[in-house]
Amino acid sequence: MGSRDLVRLLVLWRLAGEWWRAEALYLYFCGGLSPAEIERKMGIRRTVVAGIVRRAYEVYGKNYGVDRVVSRCFAHVSRLETAFSSYCKLCGKSGFAKPMRHLALSHRKYVEQCVDVVVSSLRRVREDSVL
Ligand SMILES: [Zn+2]
Repeated sequence: MGSRDLVRLLVLWRLAGEWWRAEALYLYFCGGLSPAEIERKMGIRRTVVAGIVRRAYEVYGKNYGVDRVVSRCFAHVSRLETAFSSYCKLCGKSGFAKPMRHLALSHRKYVEQCVDVVVSSLRRVREDSVL
């Protein structure tokens, strides 16, 4: 739990080609939209949006500060290249039902490198970072 874990979740969404989850999270925490408004805007069911928000709280482990981490790392994570289309660009294998799981299990080192890149770019922005 903590900032780094929340950054890792966003990185995994990015790499796995599920960036829409992070976009929904961003609209919720930084755009001030309700799950119902996000449903209208993005076409994602509000129960799914609520699940995404719940997951962010779980991973972060606190009820405050999630919005700050999301707003500060969103742009950095969005610059990472997606590692999945119909196959994994890192190892060339395909047929994964859960790309995130594959990335977390088989490419842990790469995922951590990406997390490091995001965390260090945040530190460069402000030394007294929450991270
Ligand atoms: Zn792979």
